[in-house]
Amino acid sequence: MPTMLQIVLWSIIVNVPVGFIALKRKSLRSPDGVIAAGILGLVLFLSHWLYWAIVILFFVSSSLLTKYKHSSKIKQEAMQFAEKGGNRDMYQVLANSGVIFAVAFYFLLENGIWNAPLFHPLSLAGITSVAVVTADTWSTELGVLSNSSPRFILNLKQKVPRGTSGGVSLEGTLSTLGGSTFIALAYGMALYSIIPVSKLIIAFLLVFMGGVMGSLIDSALGASIQAQFKCPSCNKITEKRFHLRCGRIKTMHVKGLKVINNDIVNFTSALIPSFVVYLIVDYILI
Ligand SMILES: [Zn+2]
Repeated sequence: MPTMLQIVLWSIIVNVPVGFIALKRKSLRSPDGVIAAGILGLVLFLSHWLYWAIVILFFVSSSLLTKYKHSSKIKQEAMQFAEKGGNRDMYQVLANSGVIFAVAFYFLLENGIWNAPLFHPLSLAGITSVAVVTADTWSTELGVLSNSSPRFILNLKQKVPRGTSGGVSLEGTLSTLGGSTFIALAYGMALYSIIPVSKLIIAFLLVFMGGVMGSLIDSALGASIQAQFKCPSCNKITEKRFHLRCGRIKTMHVKGLKVINNDIVNFTSALIPSFVVYLIVDYILI
């Protein structure tokens, strides 16, 4: 077991280059996104390296997918709808990683450095939240590249423009399954030889199903209560309060609740399945 000082030094050594690369690739907005991600990275790493590694898998895969075919016409068109781009600000960092941050911070205070229990209801809840945001980001980034028009999740007969909140496609759904499997597998591999195989399979399935469930909740909330606006100049529906393409013109509120933005939807859809997984593990499994 390394000493406390060694771990603190390591947490700085591993986080500084990540922040630097993220900033250079414009995956984080300066300064608030970088500061939020920096605090997150330090707390996660000090609590347990696995929390940190899981969030890094989310962040690296999402950033790569955001850049994937970024300048294609189809993606540019779809991203006109989205409130924010790949340049993550403080609120996006919090919305995506708030649950695992809370879990890591709790264990850091309770158990000290590198002592967080990995097969614990709270740990499973935290990892589930990362599976949700990974599944969701993968499906957004790859789903918009779908050849066919997406359908509306609350009425599958209805076709909607690419990038619309609540739009679902075959490619997007497969990406959801892929993103959730990715995180559940990474967690399962880390638990291998620590816990019995039967528990390992249950942990994998819970994180996987939680990830898929969260992604569905995200689409459903996006389709119902998330605020949508309309640009008075080009009549495009968007999540943005100002349409940049039309010279930062103020958009009109047309649908959903004005206060419910994409960050609130993301955070809620990560929190609900995490809580469900927590309850299942706490009351049934352990
Ligand atoms: Zn416009």
